Amino acid sequence: MIWESAEFDNHEQVCFFSDEKTGLRAIVAIHSTFRGPAAGGMRFKPYDTDALALDDALRLSRAMSYKSALAGLPVGGGKSVIIGDPAKIKTRELLHAFGRFIDRIGNVYATGEDVGVTVADMETINEVTPYVGGTSQGAGDPSIHTAIGVLHGLRAVAVHKFGRNDFSNMRIAVQGLGSVGRRVAQQLHDAGAKLIVADVNAEKTAQAHEQFDAVVCSTETIHAADVDIFCPCALGGVVTEATVTEIRARAVAGAANNQLSSPAAGDALAQRDILFAPDYVINAGGIISGLEATQAMPGRKKVDIAPLPDRLAGINSRLLEIFRRSEMEGQTPDATAQKMAQELIGRR
Ligand code: NAD
Repeated sequence: MIWESAEFDNHEQVCFFSDEKTGLRAIVAIHSTFRGPAAGGMRFKPYDTDALALDDALRLSRAMSYKSALAGLPVGGGKSVIIGDPAKIKTRELLHAFGRFIDRIGNVYATGEDVGVTVADMETINEVTPYVGGTSQGAGDPSIHTAIGVLHGLRAVAVHKFGRNDFSNMRIAVQGLGSVGRRVAQQLHDAGAKLIVADVNAEKTAQAHEQFDAVVCSTETIHAADVDIFCPCALGGVVTEATVTEIRARAVAGAANNQLSSPAAGDALAQRDILFAPDYVINAGGIISGLEATQAMPGRKKVDIAPLPDRLAGINSRLLEIFRRSEMEGQTPDATAQKMAQELIGRR
Protein backbone atom coordinates (compact mmCIF):
# COMPACT_ATOMS: atom_id res chain seq x y z
CA MET A 1 0.00 0.00 0.00
CA ILE A 2 1.40 3.39 -1.03
CA TRP A 3 0.41 5.12 2.19
CA GLU A 4 2.59 2.72 4.15
CA SER A 5 5.78 3.42 2.17
CA ALA A 6 8.43 5.21 4.22
CA GLU A 7 8.81 7.53 1.22
CA PHE A 8 5.14 8.57 1.20
CA ASP A 9 4.85 12.23 2.16
CA ASN A 10 1.23 13.13 1.49
CA HIS A 11 1.78 13.00 -2.25
CA GLU A 12 -1.17 14.59 -4.01
CA GLN A 13 -1.47 12.02 -6.78
CA VAL A 14 0.22 8.77 -7.79
CA CYS A 15 -0.66 7.14 -11.14
CA PHE A 16 0.18 3.65 -12.37
CA PHE A 17 0.17 3.01 -16.11
CA SER A 18 0.61 -0.13 -18.16
CA ASP A 19 0.45 -0.90 -21.85
CA GLU A 20 0.47 -4.56 -22.75
CA LYS A 21 1.43 -4.05 -26.40
CA THR A 22 4.71 -2.25 -25.67
CA GLY A 23 5.48 -3.69 -22.22
CA LEU A 24 5.28 -0.24 -20.64
CA ARG A 25 4.91 -0.11 -16.87
CA ALA A 26 5.19 3.38 -15.45
CA ILE A 27 4.54 5.27 -12.24
CA VAL A 28 4.01 9.02 -12.09
CA ALA A 29 4.12 10.60 -8.64
CA ILE A 30 2.98 14.18 -8.08
CA HIS A 31 4.15 15.33 -4.67
CA SER A 32 2.96 18.94 -4.60
CA THR A 33 1.32 21.48 -6.90
CA PHE A 34 1.25 24.12 -4.17
CA ARG A 35 3.57 26.45 -6.12
CA GLY A 36 2.32 25.53 -9.60
CA PRO A 37 2.05 22.58 -12.00
CA ALA A 38 4.52 19.83 -11.08
CA ALA A 39 7.67 19.18 -13.11
CA GLY A 40 10.23 16.41 -12.86
CA GLY A 41 12.03 14.05 -15.19
CA MET A 42 11.42 10.48 -16.20
CA ARG A 43 13.74 7.78 -14.90
CA PHE A 44 13.93 4.65 -17.07
CA LYS A 45 15.66 1.73 -15.38
CA PRO A 46 15.16 -1.81 -14.11
CA TYR A 47 14.16 -2.18 -10.45
CA ASP A 48 14.56 -5.33 -8.34
CA THR A 49 10.96 -4.97 -7.13
CA ASP A 50 7.97 -2.81 -8.03
CA ALA A 51 7.97 -1.49 -4.45
CA LEU A 52 11.47 -0.06 -5.01
CA ALA A 53 10.26 1.65 -8.19
CA LEU A 54 7.37 3.19 -6.27
CA ASP A 55 9.69 4.33 -3.46
CA ASP A 56 11.96 5.94 -6.06
CA ALA A 57 9.06 7.81 -7.66
CA LEU A 58 7.81 9.01 -4.26
CA ARG A 59 11.28 10.07 -3.05
CA LEU A 60 12.33 11.74 -6.29
CA SER A 61 9.05 13.66 -6.70
CA ARG A 62 9.36 15.07 -3.17
CA ALA A 63 12.93 16.11 -3.97
CA MET A 64 11.62 17.93 -7.06
CA SER A 65 9.14 19.87 -4.89
CA TYR A 66 12.03 20.93 -2.66
CA LYS A 67 14.32 21.72 -5.58
CA SER A 68 11.83 23.93 -7.43
CA ALA A 69 10.66 25.67 -4.26
CA LEU A 70 14.22 26.48 -3.14
CA ALA A 71 15.02 27.73 -6.64
CA GLY A 72 12.11 30.16 -6.25
CA LEU A 73 10.20 28.67 -9.20
CA PRO A 74 6.40 28.74 -9.55
CA VAL A 75 6.56 24.99 -10.09
CA GLY A 76 5.58 21.91 -8.07
CA GLY A 77 7.29 18.54 -7.75
CA GLY A 78 6.68 15.31 -9.64
CA LYS A 79 8.58 12.42 -11.18
CA SER A 80 7.99 9.54 -13.59
CA VAL A 81 9.54 6.11 -13.39
CA ILE A 82 9.46 3.57 -16.23
CA ILE A 83 10.31 0.08 -15.02
CA GLY A 84 12.66 -1.89 -17.30
CA ASP A 85 15.99 -1.84 -19.07
CA PRO A 86 15.89 0.96 -21.66
CA ALA A 87 18.46 -0.89 -23.77
CA LYS A 88 15.99 -3.77 -24.09
CA ILE A 89 12.49 -2.31 -24.08
CA LYS A 90 12.74 1.34 -25.11
CA THR A 91 10.93 1.75 -28.44
CA ARG A 92 9.22 4.61 -30.21
CA GLU A 93 5.86 2.92 -29.56
CA LEU A 94 6.56 2.58 -25.82
CA LEU A 95 7.56 6.25 -25.56
CA HIS A 96 4.37 7.23 -27.41
CA ALA A 97 2.28 5.08 -25.06
CA PHE A 98 3.98 6.79 -22.10
CA GLY A 99 3.39 10.22 -23.70
CA ARG A 100 -0.32 9.50 -24.09
CA PHE A 101 -0.51 8.72 -20.37
CA ILE A 102 1.32 11.95 -19.54
CA ASP A 103 -1.17 13.77 -21.76
CA ARG A 104 -4.03 12.15 -19.86
CA ILE A 105 -2.67 13.56 -16.57
CA GLY A 106 -2.82 16.92 -18.35
CA ASN A 107 -1.97 20.33 -17.09
CA VAL A 108 -0.72 19.42 -13.59
CA TYR A 109 2.51 17.62 -14.55
CA ALA A 110 5.28 17.86 -17.15
CA THR A 111 8.00 15.25 -17.60
CA GLY A 112 11.59 15.61 -18.83
CA GLU A 113 14.98 13.91 -18.94
CA ASP A 114 16.52 11.80 -16.24
CA VAL A 115 18.54 8.57 -16.04
CA GLY A 116 18.04 6.31 -19.08
CA VAL A 117 16.48 8.86 -21.42
CA THR A 118 17.74 11.42 -23.94
CA VAL A 119 16.70 14.68 -25.59
CA ALA A 120 15.68 12.57 -28.62
CA ASP A 121 13.35 10.49 -26.38
CA MET A 122 11.76 13.70 -25.10
CA GLU A 123 11.12 14.76 -28.68
CA THR A 124 9.45 11.41 -29.42
CA ILE A 125 7.20 11.84 -26.37
CA ASN A 126 6.54 15.44 -27.42
CA GLU A 127 4.93 14.09 -30.63
CA VAL A 128 1.93 12.99 -28.56
CA THR A 129 1.85 15.45 -25.64
CA PRO A 130 2.90 19.06 -25.05
CA TYR A 131 3.71 18.31 -21.38
CA VAL A 132 7.42 17.61 -21.94
CA GLY A 133 10.49 19.71 -21.15
CA GLY A 134 14.08 19.31 -22.33
CA THR A 135 13.42 19.12 -26.08
CA SER A 136 15.82 20.94 -28.40
CA GLN A 137 13.00 23.43 -29.19
CA GLY A 138 12.79 24.18 -25.48
CA ALA A 139 15.68 24.68 -23.08
CA GLY A 140 17.62 21.74 -24.61
CA ASP A 141 20.30 19.83 -22.73
CA PRO A 142 19.78 20.73 -19.06
CA SER A 143 23.32 19.73 -18.08
CA ILE A 144 24.71 22.98 -19.56
CA HIS A 145 22.60 25.01 -17.12
CA THR A 146 23.13 22.56 -14.27
CA ALA A 147 26.90 23.06 -14.61
CA ILE A 148 26.55 26.85 -14.60
CA GLY A 149 24.39 26.58 -11.48
CA VAL A 150 26.94 24.33 -9.77
CA LEU A 151 29.60 26.99 -10.37
CA HIS A 152 27.36 29.61 -8.73
CA GLY A 153 26.98 27.22 -5.79
CA LEU A 154 30.70 26.55 -5.57
CA ARG A 155 31.25 30.32 -5.39
CA ALA A 156 28.91 30.45 -2.39
CA VAL A 157 30.99 27.67 -0.78
CA ALA A 158 34.22 29.55 -1.54
CA VAL A 159 32.84 32.70 0.10
CA HIS A 160 31.27 31.03 3.13
CA LYS A 161 33.91 28.45 3.93
CA PHE A 162 37.11 30.00 2.62
CA GLY A 163 36.27 33.74 2.64
CA ARG A 164 37.22 33.93 -1.05
CA ASN A 165 35.60 35.26 -4.19
CA ASP A 166 37.71 33.29 -6.63
CA PHE A 167 38.99 29.77 -7.35
CA SER A 168 42.58 30.65 -8.14
CA ASN A 169 44.80 27.70 -7.08
CA MET A 170 41.92 26.22 -5.07
CA ARG A 171 42.16 22.42 -5.09
CA ILE A 172 38.95 20.75 -6.18
CA ALA A 173 38.26 17.03 -6.71
CA VAL A 174 35.64 16.36 -9.40
CA GLN A 175 34.11 12.87 -9.27
CA GLY A 176 32.54 12.02 -12.63
CA LEU A 177 33.24 13.76 -15.94
CA GLY A 178 29.89 13.28 -17.65
CA SER A 179 27.63 15.95 -19.14
CA VAL A 180 27.73 18.04 -15.96
CA GLY A 181 31.10 17.10 -14.38
CA ARG A 182 33.07 17.81 -17.57
CA ARG A 183 31.53 21.27 -17.84
CA VAL A 184 32.08 22.00 -14.15
CA ALA A 185 35.74 20.94 -14.51
CA GLN A 186 36.14 23.15 -17.60
CA GLN A 187 34.77 26.24 -15.81
CA LEU A 188 36.84 25.59 -12.68
CA HIS A 189 39.96 25.19 -14.79
CA ASP A 190 39.19 28.44 -16.61
CA ALA A 191 38.82 30.10 -13.19
CA GLY A 192 42.29 28.93 -12.11
CA ALA A 193 41.42 25.94 -9.90
CA LYS A 194 43.74 22.92 -9.57
CA LEU A 195 41.77 19.82 -10.41
CA ILE A 196 41.86 16.19 -9.33
CA VAL A 197 39.45 14.03 -11.32
CA ALA A 198 38.13 10.49 -11.43
CA ASP A 199 35.81 8.65 -13.78
CA VAL A 200 35.24 4.97 -14.58
CA ASN A 201 35.80 5.97 -18.21
CA ALA A 202 39.57 6.32 -18.77
CA GLU A 203 39.10 8.30 -22.00
CA LYS A 204 37.31 11.03 -20.06
CA THR A 205 40.02 11.31 -17.41
CA ALA A 206 42.76 11.34 -20.09
CA GLN A 207 40.94 14.19 -21.83
CA ALA A 208 40.62 16.13 -18.55
CA HIS A 209 44.34 15.62 -17.92
CA GLU A 210 45.16 17.01 -21.34
CA GLN A 211 42.63 19.85 -21.44
CA PHE A 212 42.48 20.98 -17.81
CA ASP A 213 45.88 19.82 -16.55
CA ALA A 214 43.91 17.66 -14.09
CA VAL A 215 45.57 15.05 -11.90
CA VAL A 216 43.83 11.70 -12.41
CA CYS A 217 42.87 9.74 -9.30
CA SER A 218 41.24 6.35 -8.78
CA THR A 219 37.45 6.19 -8.48
CA GLU A 220 37.86 4.41 -5.13
CA THR A 221 39.82 7.22 -3.49
CA ILE A 222 38.68 10.47 -5.11
CA HIS A 223 36.43 11.27 -2.12
CA ALA A 224 39.52 11.20 0.12
CA ALA A 225 41.69 13.45 -2.09
CA ASP A 226 43.69 16.16 -0.35
CA VAL A 227 41.69 19.11 -1.67
CA ASP A 228 39.65 22.11 -0.52
CA ILE A 229 36.36 21.01 -2.08
CA PHE A 230 35.09 17.55 -3.04
CA CYS A 231 32.66 17.93 -5.96
CA PRO A 232 30.59 14.76 -6.59
CA CYS A 233 29.21 14.75 -10.15
CA ALA A 234 28.64 11.04 -10.70
CA LEU A 235 26.59 8.93 -8.35
CA GLY A 236 24.27 9.34 -5.39
CA GLY A 237 25.09 8.02 -1.92
CA VAL A 238 28.81 8.91 -2.04
CA VAL A 239 28.76 10.49 1.40
CA THR A 240 28.27 7.71 3.94
CA GLU A 241 29.15 7.59 7.63
CA ALA A 242 32.20 5.55 6.56
CA THR A 243 33.41 7.79 3.70
CA VAL A 244 32.96 10.95 5.82
CA THR A 245 35.83 9.83 8.03
CA GLU A 246 38.09 9.71 4.95
CA ILE A 247 37.10 13.04 3.36
CA ARG A 248 39.92 15.57 3.62
CA ALA A 249 38.13 18.39 1.82
CA ARG A 250 36.58 21.14 3.94
CA ALA A 251 33.47 21.25 1.79
CA VAL A 252 31.37 18.85 -0.30
CA ALA A 253 29.47 20.50 -3.15
CA GLY A 254 28.56 19.04 -6.52
CA ALA A 255 25.88 18.08 -9.02
CA ALA A 256 25.12 14.47 -8.09
CA ASN A 257 21.63 13.81 -6.77
CA ASN A 258 21.16 12.32 -3.28
CA GLN A 259 24.82 12.61 -2.22
CA LEU A 260 24.07 11.90 1.45
CA SER A 261 23.36 8.21 1.97
CA SER A 262 21.39 9.14 5.13
CA PRO A 263 20.71 12.15 7.38
CA ALA A 264 23.33 10.62 9.73
CA ALA A 265 25.95 11.09 6.99
CA GLY A 266 25.00 14.79 6.93
CA ASP A 267 25.39 14.95 10.70
CA ALA A 268 28.80 13.25 10.43
CA LEU A 269 29.96 15.88 7.90
CA ALA A 270 28.83 18.67 10.22
CA GLN A 271 30.62 17.07 13.18
CA ARG A 272 33.84 17.17 11.17
CA ASP A 273 33.12 20.80 10.22
CA ILE A 274 32.85 19.90 6.54
CA LEU A 275 30.42 22.24 4.79
CA PHE A 276 27.77 20.49 2.69
CA ALA A 277 25.86 22.20 -0.13
CA PRO A 278 22.50 20.39 -0.33
CA ASP A 279 22.44 18.78 -3.78
CA TYR A 280 18.85 19.71 -4.61
CA VAL A 281 19.84 23.38 -4.21
CA ILE A 282 23.17 23.47 -6.03
CA ASN A 283 22.08 21.23 -8.94
CA ALA A 284 18.80 23.01 -9.74
CA GLY A 285 20.10 24.66 -12.96
CA GLY A 286 18.36 22.15 -15.22
CA ILE A 287 14.89 22.68 -13.81
CA ILE A 288 15.53 26.44 -13.60
CA SER A 289 16.36 26.53 -17.32
CA GLY A 290 13.13 24.74 -18.26
CA LEU A 291 10.84 27.41 -16.83
CA GLU A 292 10.05 29.23 -20.10
CA ALA A 293 9.17 25.91 -21.74
CA THR A 294 6.92 24.75 -18.89
CA GLN A 295 5.20 28.15 -18.77
CA ALA A 296 4.42 27.89 -22.49
CA MET A 297 2.53 24.60 -22.05
CA PRO A 298 -1.26 24.66 -22.71
CA GLY A 299 -3.43 25.84 -19.84
CA ARG A 300 -0.53 27.33 -17.89
CA LYS A 301 -0.76 30.70 -16.22
CA LYS A 302 2.14 32.96 -17.24
CA VAL A 303 3.87 34.80 -14.42
CA ASP A 304 6.70 37.30 -14.71
CA ILE A 305 10.05 35.57 -14.39
CA ALA A 306 13.63 36.83 -14.13
CA PRO A 307 16.01 36.18 -17.07
CA LEU A 308 17.72 32.75 -17.01
CA PRO A 309 21.22 34.01 -15.99
CA ASP A 310 19.69 35.78 -12.97
CA ARG A 311 17.68 32.70 -12.01
CA LEU A 312 20.82 30.56 -12.18
CA ALA A 313 22.78 33.12 -10.15
CA GLY A 314 20.05 32.83 -7.48
CA ILE A 315 21.59 29.47 -6.50
CA ASN A 316 24.48 31.42 -5.00
CA SER A 317 22.36 33.64 -2.76
CA ARG A 318 20.02 30.79 -1.77
CA LEU A 319 22.96 28.65 -0.66
CA LEU A 320 24.53 31.51 1.30
CA GLU A 321 21.17 32.00 3.05
CA ILE A 322 21.00 28.26 3.87
CA PHE A 323 24.57 28.23 5.23
CA ARG A 324 23.93 31.27 7.43
CA ARG A 325 20.57 30.00 8.70
CA SER A 326 21.92 26.52 9.43
CA GLU A 327 24.71 28.02 11.55
CA MET A 328 22.26 30.25 13.39
CA GLU A 329 19.88 27.36 14.05
CA GLY A 330 22.63 24.84 14.86
CA GLN A 331 21.37 22.44 12.18
CA THR A 332 22.99 20.84 9.15
CA PRO A 333 22.54 22.75 5.87
CA ASP A 334 20.48 19.80 4.64
CA ALA A 335 18.07 19.99 7.58
CA THR A 336 17.77 23.76 7.18
CA ALA A 337 17.18 23.49 3.43
CA GLN A 338 14.48 20.88 3.96
CA LYS A 339 12.76 23.06 6.52
CA MET A 340 12.90 26.07 4.20
CA ALA A 341 11.53 23.98 1.32
CA GLN A 342 8.67 22.66 3.45
CA GLU A 343 7.75 26.23 4.40
CA LEU A 344 7.82 27.23 0.72
CA ILE A 345 5.41 24.44 -0.26
CA GLY A 346 3.02 25.10 2.61
CA ARG A 347 3.89 21.96 4.54
CA ARG A 348 4.90 23.74 7.78
P1 NAD B 1 26.38 11.47 -16.91
O1 NAD B 1 25.82 10.09 -16.99
O2 NAD B 1 26.55 12.27 -18.17
O3 NAD B 1 27.79 11.44 -16.19
C1 NAD B 1 28.12 10.64 -15.10
C2 NAD B 1 29.59 10.39 -15.17
O4 NAD B 1 30.00 9.69 -13.99
C3 NAD B 1 30.01 9.51 -16.35
O5 NAD B 1 31.13 10.07 -17.01
C4 NAD B 1 30.38 8.16 -15.69
O6 NAD B 1 31.36 7.46 -16.41
C5 NAD B 1 30.88 8.64 -14.36
N1 NAD B 1 30.88 7.63 -13.31
C6 NAD B 1 30.02 6.59 -13.12
N2 NAD B 1 30.36 5.88 -12.04
C7 NAD B 1 31.45 6.49 -11.50
C8 NAD B 1 32.25 6.24 -10.37
N3 NAD B 1 32.04 5.21 -9.56
N4 NAD B 1 33.28 7.08 -10.13
C9 NAD B 1 33.54 8.13 -10.94
N5 NAD B 1 32.81 8.40 -12.05
C10 NAD B 1 31.78 7.60 -12.31
O7 NAD B 1 25.44 12.24 -15.85
P2 NAD B 1 25.29 13.80 -15.68
O8 NAD B 1 24.12 14.27 -16.45
O9 NAD B 1 26.61 14.46 -15.84
O10 NAD B 1 24.84 13.86 -14.14
C11 NAD B 1 25.78 13.67 -13.11
C12 NAD B 1 25.09 13.68 -11.77
O11 NAD B 1 24.40 14.92 -11.60
C13 NAD B 1 24.02 12.60 -11.59
O12 NAD B 1 23.97 12.22 -10.24
C14 NAD B 1 22.73 13.33 -11.94
O13 NAD B 1 21.61 12.72 -11.32
C15 NAD B 1 23.02 14.69 -11.37
N6 NAD B 1 22.25 15.76 -12.00
C16 NAD B 1 22.35 15.98 -13.32
C17 NAD B 1 21.62 17.00 -13.90
C18 NAD B 1 21.72 17.28 -15.37
O14 NAD B 1 21.26 18.36 -15.80
N7 NAD B 1 22.30 16.40 -16.17
C19 NAD B 1 20.78 17.80 -13.12
C20 NAD B 1 20.71 17.57 -11.75
C21 NAD B 1 21.46 16.53 -11.20
